Amino acid sequence: MNFHVMTLFPEMVMNGLNTSILGRAAARGLLSFEAINIRDYTLERHGQVDDYPYGGGAGMVMQAEPIYRAYEAVREKIGHSPRVIYMTPQGQVFNQKIAEELSREDDLVFLCGHYEGVDERVLELIATDYLSAGDYVLTGGELPAMMMIDCISRLVPGVLNNQVSAEFESFHDNLLEYPQYTRPEEFMGKKVPDILLSGHHANVEKWRREQSIIRTLKRRPELLENAELSKKEQQFLERLMEEEKEEQHGQS
Ligand code: SAM
Repeated sequence: MNFHVMTLFPEMVMNGLNTSILGRAAARGLLSFEAINIRDYTLERHGQVDDYPYGGGAGMVMQAEPIYRAYEAVREKIGHSPRVIYMTPQGQVFNQKIAEELSREDDLVFLCGHYEGVDERVLELIATDYLSAGDYVLTGGELPAMMMIDCISRLVPGVLNNQVSAEFESFHDNLLEYPQYTRPEEFMGKKVPDILLSGHHANVEKWRREQSIIRTLKRRPELLENAELSKKEQQFLERLMEEEKEEQHGQS
């Protein structure tokens, strides 16, 4: 899978992406990262890529032309019109489902804004998707792009050594992951739950699913509305909710 990031800060993006698991996957040819420096595509002398907003107001706006020319260069290079995702706090908030859908593309272009944003006209011409890292405003789209690329890359077959781990993590089935433990068996008086040392695979699986449900109910109850639960798990959840209600009732 090939990621093309249009940015004014190519080093920031390349240093971040060519590290650890993603860097190794790129070295193995499973992924490729390319940062396109928008400044290389300006026609202005002095390398200018931004200007004052029409109508006044604070800050600078990234100009349409260098972005459009940078996009055309990517399009020419790969030989087709790719999806172009504009990083913006005004977009749909990124999540695991969107990552799964995007991981099926061969090429993805990420457009990173900076300053006050990007001239609307170039977005109308090239952007196919508008995605946000969350409901807060950052100085640029580079960190959101890196974050989304990281998440999408893990879903590309072969990138993780242990492919099942991507399938059983938080948000799969709309549940958070169960608690994890490693050696030693006891740390500062806290023991690893006995069941995990039992070697009984089916019981461990059952315990983990229940822990996932407990954790999701405590931390992100709204996810449970769309969780995929078996009949028994649904009954387990209902019992938990009953207990929670009784506890609240006892406190009031
Ligand atoms: N004036 C813009 C607005 O109110 O929507 C915000 C501009 S922001 C300071 C500069 C750039 O950072 C944006 O063009 C966008 O690319 C990126 N950015 C900021 N917050 C973001 C977020 N939550 N998700 C994705 N990109 C974001």
